[in-house]
Amino acid sequence: MTNRIHYLPQRNEVEIFTHAAGNRLPVLLKGPTGCGKTRFVQHMAERLARPLITIACHDDLTAADLVGRHLIGPDGTYWQDGPLTRAVREGAICYLDEVVEARKDTTVVLHPLSDHRRELPLERTGELLPAHPDFMLVISYNPGYQNLMKGLKPSTRQRFVALAFDYPTPEREVVILCQETGIGKETATQLVALGNDLRRLKDRDLEEAASTRLLIYCALMIGSGVPAGDACRVCLAEALSDDADTLAAIDRLIGSYF
Ligand code: ADP
Repeated sequence: MTNRIHYLPQRNEVEIFTHAAGNRLPVLLKGPTGCGKTRFVQHMAERLARPLITIACHDDLTAADLVGRHLIGPDGTYWQDGPLTRAVREGAICYLDEVVEARKDTTVVLHPLSDHRRELPLERTGELLPAHPDFMLVISYNPGYQNLMKGLKPSTRQRFVALAFDYPTPEREVVILCQETGIGKETATQLVALGNDLRRLKDRDLEEAASTRLLIYCALMIGSGVPAGDACRVCLAEALSDDADTLAAIDRLIGSYF
């Protein structure tokens, strides 16, 4: 089967994920935002021919948002499965993006699903739901976020096969930019070089590094006719900083390429 969702592997992550799926083990993807984690999961779901249910975690996400809740209809109350419960019943890959954003009590519902039990207790209905053999739990988190309080609890992270992601190597990132946007190799090479210069500014002046996603936005804008310098300014500089000195420094860097 040829994949429609293109993904250029960084290392052996496709093989590792395939083995984890075969062994019914959950997977943790860690790495900075915009480096290809979501695209990888989409690609793997297609490759393994399993449905994918993605949940973007945030600090208001409750256990009921994941598991389900009773609703009131014309004929009284009825139970409605949440996205996690649907994935458990149907044998889907459930991808919890940025799981550390979710409240701690939320991640606890994942525990019985992510060890040998592979079951989901639905407290509200009294049901103990065994996971479909094809159910797979995948979570992602960005270890770069400085908020120590938000680190993943050891009791949670120790249940997962962990795959570390980073920005693609320059050679790979050029290929990705060309494939994703149709931009020429020369411009892609310059954008990647600029992106890597900006990544070196991270920690010193920037909270977040220039992601592959931002480079792709930039390439798309250039491809549709925006002058390269302007595209870099709106897609990279302004997206990464509000600080006037930092913006001026980024501007000088952009000027040395375009
Ligand atoms: P994350 O989930 O890590 O925040 P994404 O998966 O959304 O990042 O990646 C952002 C974009 O970068 C994707 O939409 C895709 O266009 C591109 N991308 C990143 N890495 C790859 C890769 N290895 N192969 C193909 N496209 C990639």
